[in-house]
Amino acid sequence: MKPYDDGVIRLEDHGDGIWRIEELFAIPSARGAIWVVDGRDRRLVIDAGWGLVPLRERLPALFDRPIVAVASHTHFDHIGGLHQFAERLVHPLEAPILAEPGQEATQILPYLEEYPESLAFDPAGKGFTARDWHIPPAPATGLVEDGQVIELGGRQIVCLHTPGHSPGHLCFYEETTRTLFPVDLVYKGEILDDIPGADIGDLLESHRRLLTLDVERVLPGHFAPFDGRRLRELIDTYRHNRGA
Ligand SMILES: [Zn+2]
Ligand SMILES: [Zn+2]
Repeated sequence: MKPYDDGVIRLEDHGDGIWRIEELFAIPSARGAIWVVDGRDRRLVIDAGWGLVPLRERLPALFDRPIVAVASHTHFDHIGGLHQFAERLVHPLEAPILAEPGQEATQILPYLEEYPESLAFDPAGKGFTARDWHIPPAPATGLVEDGQVIELGGRQIVCLHTPGHSPGHLCFYEETTRTLFPVDLVYKGEILDDIPGADIGDLLESHRRLLTLDVERVLPGHFAPFDGRRLRELIDTYRHNRGA
């Protein structure tokens, strides 16, 4: 693959065979990152964004290798495009939502009606409205439990069940590169812990667990990457703000 940016979709090279796809039509707080990890035998796609623009048209090279896609959780900004991938994994607690991605379950409503500015521009130019947006079903083809390893050929990604932002939320970790993908559990912005399915106690416990990992690089679900020291600071700040 080569870096790409057409003003709608951007593909960035993050080194070590790791890439990020961003949907530029969404503002960063509502733009679920699509992380790609290349192994020798196959390619892992962590999350699938809104999916309003077909990736196969913009990034055909993404599909030139076998892909396993995994949903970190089932909010609209992470699973809208999951139907584009044939092999789809998720934690069992959120598998029913992939099969039936309703507007409330995926939190399209009320979120996008309260924050219509989340969509910076309409990529298809068809007059996007949250109420008319129905995410195509993408039933899981496999389930992942806590501690399960996804083998990509020469590299292994561990799935961690980390509830708190949502019941079946997964983080991903690669020990050899000391890389953590915390998705929506921690990033450089307000962590959403008061939405349906969220639980502050679980979130604090999941944060504690992330701090036991040896982490050099953090590639989050929103906003810019950061390092292991910043991870600790962000988690400390959150805990302090919640009086825990
Ligand atoms: Zn998100
Ligand atoms: Zn989320």
